[in-house]
Amino acid sequence: MICFTLSADTLEGVSAQVNRYRGCFDILELRLDLLRQDERERLVHDTASPAWAIGVPLILTFRRLSDGGAWNGDDTERLNYLSALVEQHAEGLVGEGLFLDLEDDVVAHDAGRKAADVAARYGGEIIRSRHVFDRTPEDPVAVLRELAGCGDPGEIPKLAVQVRGSRDLVRLVRAAIAWLDGMDAGDAGAGGAGEARDKRAIIVGMGAYGFPTRVLAPRIGSFLSYSSEPSKGREHVAPGQIDPRSMAELYRYRSLGPTTEVFGIIGNPVLHSRSPAFHNAEFDRKGRNAVYVPFPTDDVPAFRELMALLHIRGVSVTIPHKEMVADWFRAAGAEGASRAVGTAGDPGADVPAVGEASTELLAVGACNTVIRDADGRLVGANTDVAGFLEPLRSRVPELRDRGVTVIGAGGAARAVVYGLLSSGARVLVLNRTLHRAESLAGEYAKLGQVTAGALEPGSLPALRLHNDILVQTTSVGMQPDTDADPLAFYEFAGTEVLYEIIYTPPVTRLVARAKEAGCLVIGGEEMFLAQAKLQSDLFAQT
Ligand code: NAP
Repeated sequence: MICFTLSADTLEGVSAQVNRYRGCFDILELRLDLLRQDERERLVHDTASPAWAIGVPLILTFRRLSDGGAWNGDDTERLNYLSALVEQHAEGLVGEGLFLDLEDDVVAHDAGRKAADVAARYGGEIIRSRHVFDRTPEDPVAVLRELAGCGDPGEIPKLAVQVRGSRDLVRLVRAAIAWLDGMDAGDAGAGGAGEARDKRAIIVGMGAYGFPTRVLAPRIGSFLSYSSEPSKGREHVAPGQIDPRSMAELYRYRSLGPTTEVFGIIGNPVLHSRSPAFHNAEFDRKGRNAVYVPFPTDDVPAFRELMALLHIRGVSVTIPHKEMVADWFRAAGAEGASRAVGTAGDPGADVPAVGEASTELLAVGACNTVIRDADGRLVGANTDVAGFLEPLRSRVPELRDRGVTVIGAGGAARAVVYGLLSSGARVLVLNRTLHRAESLAGEYAKLGQVTAGALEPGSLPALRLHNDILVQTTSVGMQPDTDADPLAFYEFAGTEVLYEIIYTPPVTRLVARAKEAGCLVIGGEEMFLAQAKLQSDLFAQT
């Protein structure tokens, strides 16, 4: 279920939020602590239940400052308010499902006990919550068990934890799967002896690294996933949340379930990647029960454990992990393919074995795509090379003997230079740091004619011998630094083809100058789409 957390400070504001996202949520959470005091008073004294809350299940949450909320007052007052609110409105609201979020430490509090009893009297359910803001506990299953056992039978445990990195995410996902599998069935304290344990639990990974738990809630068995509306001065109610429309439409949350295949992108940062929009739309178009999720990743070996845990079928790889993932395949090649290589973080951890890699991946030393073969082994590819060449070849079909200047000598430049040399072009690499350009040229010298220079006016004579095509591969001119121009010292003649691989903004200062001079311009969007389409074809094979 997509839970929409209502964060407005007035009841009118709440109503407007509901209207803005109508159709994109399955359950609402009213954050009483975020309402103004006078609005809380109004709500508890109003005889009619609020119209926006009718027809949909509702969670009432009155969060303390210490649990990430806004209430800094007396706890008895807070809990008594909840009892009064349920008394006032339960009859009107309970038909659709009414839930009360109560923290585990108020289980023995008189007012907390009373709030739970009042809710139970009207058929409401209790969500028994705990928030851990500084870490993911060592044993999340033990915490879930505590939460499920501390109150009345049938309560729904909710554990929200800070995910500090990939290793925390592995631990949390492993716990969620274990909970769902009922590893500890019988000793959870809920359901009573001999009865099947109620497996409902809410598991939330907070922060960027926890983001996958929000989208994958139906896959890892979390009862619901929270979403909120971004607002000025604060992106979302909790870090890592997204809005209900993105959940419903971009990630097709309601079509996800325990058998949904998982794909994704690893990088850091990666939450603003455009790849999820592309690949989820492709899965939707093809009618495939699959989802593509960004995995902010700070520990590549840990992610490989996650691949095993979630049976991840394929991933895109982006900055800064392309080289490290390529190393899996280089090491496997050295040791003989098909062996599980690379050190996983936990000794003896279950990780998928490494299989074949494409020629481009091994030549460029960067991997941007990993899929599973029929035996579950990892297969590596680099679609940046073909993704770069495709839009160029549609304009310049024959690259042989063309003089090309590549600006930059980073990861993207490696794929570009390899693609150009393999096509017979003469290449000049210009880079701010000369020795990186020289080392790239030296490494690829056996593939064709390639020279290096510094990114400065002194390189103009060499540039003029390589100006049929100019390829801009640095991050200079990208948002937010859109006034920057890496080739300010060069004046276009108008006969050049300029290929700019940056796609935000779509028109960089360099692109504007080239267009003004009458050059043919290829934008980074085309390369992005071409490499993503090739990835999508690879995903279709797995
Ligand atoms: P990278 O490995 O970090 O390389 C960055 C390059 O930019 C290096 O050559 C670096 O020069 C140069 N650079 C950075 N700041 C500079 C400055 N102020 N002045 C001059 N040169 C500067 O990054 P990458 O993986 O190659 O990616 C580069 C860009 O390509 C990114 O913007 C990325 O989004 C884009 N890209 C687009 C696509 C697509 O599909 N369209 C695909 C891949 C990449 P030094 O060596 O001197 O540091």
